[in-house]
Amino acid sequence: MEPPGVRVARATGPKSSRRWRTSRAAGGTGNRAGDGVSIPGMMDVIPLRAFSDNYIWVIRGSGDRVVVVDPGDAAPVLKYLKSEGLTLAAILITHHHPDHAGGVPKLLEHQAAPVFGPATERIPGMSDPLSEGDQAVIDDPGLRFNVLDIPGHTAGHIAYVGHGLVFSGDTLFAAGCGKLFEGTAEQMHTSLGKLAALPGDTRVYCGHEYTQANLRFAVQVEPDNTTIQERLERVNAQRARDEVTLPSTIEQELATNVFLRGEYDSVKHGAESHTGKRLDSPVAVFAAVRAWKDGR
Ligand SMILES: [Zn+2]
Repeated sequence: MEPPGVRVARATGPKSSRRWRTSRAAGGTGNRAGDGVSIPGMMDVIPLRAFSDNYIWVIRGSGDRVVVVDPGDAAPVLKYLKSEGLTLAAILITHHHPDHAGGVPKLLEHQAAPVFGPATERIPGMSDPLSEGDQAVIDDPGLRFNVLDIPGHTAGHIAYVGHGLVFSGDTLFAAGCGKLFEGTAEQMHTSLGKLAALPGDTRVYCGHEYTQANLRFAVQVEPDNTTIQERLERVNAQRARDEVTLPSTIEQELATNVFLRGEYDSVKHGAESHTGKRLDSPVAVFAAVRAWKDGR
């Protein structure tokens, strides 16, 4: 089944041996689960559309408390909470851009809730600043996310990883990546590498519906990659029905996202023939492909 209302089975946690510091959301009224967190066997991750192509993600367990990711606009969230009789348990922010964080003040006016966000960025109402090595823990519903620093799109951009999924904001898109507004190609390449190293079945929830445009570009970079062509055909059909093309998976991205594939000769050749230059490293290939897409 596809969204809206994707059923996400519980998956094993990150295999990283990093020591995670815990930032536990205060103000939960639900049951505490001892020293751990009652991780739901199943949960829903629901897309709410905002602006022209943003997604605000709502994480829903079996109860009536939900977590909202990147609410750039409060209106669709408030409407959804009201119509479903739900309460806001916490807000997760990936980076400071207004189309991701702009709805926070209005949501907090409606109801107090912890706001998790990147430690080095200005996020309205942020109560729990996070950086790599931290965890965001929400007792009810029982959720625990590990935080990765993924700079490039913005200087302090973070990702939330847990329960078999990742909220990647504007860093990793389905078949694409974010623009380099505050970082270097090298930083973004490293950040994408961290996400690419997550288990292949990790579901990728990003901030925008850009999949079709990204795949059209990918076909130009790698014209002989039939997996990209097949994905584009599927996505064309989905978009014709106005369907959400997310989530993706890391496995799917490794096969079709040219921004993760700089070490493949097919991408290298595509980038070299476009730039007319020899590109001697995956970072150079990545930078050339990013500049190519920016210049289209
Ligand atoms: Zn952004």
